[in-house]
Amino acid sequence: MDAKRITTSSGKLLYKPIMAEHELYECSDDGTGFCVRCGEYTSGVEPDAAKYTCESCGQSSVYGIEILALRGFIEVIDEDEKEPEEAASK
Ligand SMILES: [Zn+2]
Repeated sequence: MDAKRITTSSGKLLYKPIMAEHELYECSDDGTGFCVRCGEYTSGVEPDAAKYTCESCGQSSVYGIEILALRGFIEVIDEDEKEPEEAASK
């Protein structure tokens, strides 16, 4: 799992999670949350959590993975791109 910095249309600097599709399912199952202000992943949050306090930066910016997915705030990557050799041998 990764994260990238983005700037919103209103000029706010936020982080957006980047993960493979299977990681997305795992994350929503095991209560992973993501802080959009500092890009930290946290655990033990509800899938539909919103504005939880972040343990890293102290801001109320932790959202459940499911909420982020619903809002289109997760960049889902194609895993095949990570393993070009395996894809080519098919
Ligand atoms: Zn944070």
